[in-house]
Amino acid sequence: MIESNKIRISGNAKKFYKCHKTEVQNPIVKVAVFTLNLPWTLCGLLLGLLSFPVGIKIEENGFLIVMKVKRIWLNEIFMRDRVVGATAGSLILLSDKAEKFTRAHERIHVRQFETKPFFFPVLYCVELIRHGYFKNKYEEEAYWLSHQSV
Ligand SMILES: [Zn+2]
Repeated sequence: MIESNKIRISGNAKKFYKCHKTEVQNPIVKVAVFTLNLPWTLCGLLLGLLSFPVGIKIEENGFLIVMKVKRIWLNEIFMRDRVVGATAGSLILLSDKAEKFTRAHERIHVRQFETKPFFFPVLYCVELIRHGYFKNKYEEEAYWLSHQSV
């Protein structure tokens, strides 16, 4: 969910190359997924408001919010590194240092939120505790897929 400037991709990350590249197509499923992820999206909005917002864009017919911010300082406390992007539910935060790669990376996390609505952050945290940031299978997937797309 959080992306720093450190990039490491383990060789087995490509095993995840299957389900998180395309967005949900069915509009009813899309609304249901958006609603289930709404608590996380609202948390993301709050985080965005605390990160000195400079712009906001609505994409994917209203199902994705992209907020440009000055600095995601709250996440930097936990990461102990510069954070250039973050995703919460249907919201992507991009700092002014974010590049094209970051956008693609965070979009993969949005897709992960969509395939595991509401529960994704719990699964992500379990992975984070068990394997750390870079060995976290969701990060491996996001790094691997975003490198394929840019
Ligand atoms: Zn990430």
